Amino acid sequence: MSNREALLRALSAHALDIRRNTWRALRAAGAGHMGGSLSAADLLAALYFHYLRLRPAEPDWPERDRFVLSKGHANPALGAALAQAGFVDDGFLDTFYAYESLFGMHPDIKVPGVEMCTGALGHGLSVALGMALGSRVQGKDWRTVAMLGDGELQEGSNWEAAMAAAHLAPLRLTAIVDYNKVQQSGHVSEMLGLEPLADKWRAFGWRVSECDGHDMAEIVDALDALPVAPDRPSLLIAHTVKGKGASFAEDTHLWHNNAVSEEVYEKAMAELEGPA
Ligand SMILES: [Mg+2]
Repeated sequence: MSNREALLRALSAHALDIRRNTWRALRAAGAGHMGGSLSAADLLAALYFHYLRLRPAEPDWPERDRFVLSKGHANPALGAALAQAGFVDDGFLDTFYAYESLFGMHPDIKVPGVEMCTGALGHGLSVALGMALGSRVQGKDWRTVAMLGDGELQEGSNWEAAMAAAHLAPLRLTAIVDYNKVQQSGHVSEMLGLEPLADKWRAFGWRVSECDGHDMAEIVDALDALPVAPDRPSLLIAHTVKGKGASFAEDTHLWHNNAVSEEVYEKAMAELEGPA
């Protein structure tokens, strides 16, 4: 097996574990945001186990890359990635949404590895821009990545940040859109459409690439090709499926956030068989 094949296989195993651990957390809480967690699982696996330069045993390492989960409701998947990477103990996953737990419905900076409290949508890109500018001011070379939801892009604050980022042109700033085409109350195209999405970002001065957000080879190639161009911030549009990996939850807003009974958990886990 080539090094690349081994890498892709390992990352796919991490993604599978992120999906399993997402459902595990949701079962512990009895509910939560599965749709946007499952769509982001492959991207998070590639970020946490390939692209981002991080030290789980030293979460505040000054030279670390910064990652902001702006679509904060995908916190179950982020918590899974943090546990699998060793930022937190595995048992953290069983405390999702429990009384006094730091593993809440949205990310909390008290959790090792979390850079920003998010979940009030539309704020992450502005803060990520500030982090990227911070690296320039300090003469550092860390990279900043923000993951945005598609429904989240309906917030005007994203476009203020996009405009400012193109103007200020910090190095090493990337935004990834988890483009699963579904938001809380329906399909994005029916609620408030975003197309032509790539052209909008280009018009705002960003350099844009696209990938299949469930094809690990495409994800790795897109991340390894960053920046898209050296002169402007990069946007990666990752085409994904909401609820990916649970057939009953795919491509529907009904599983954006839902209750998770033991029966639902078993049904979801039965679809996530495979080498881990
Ligand atoms: Mg969405």
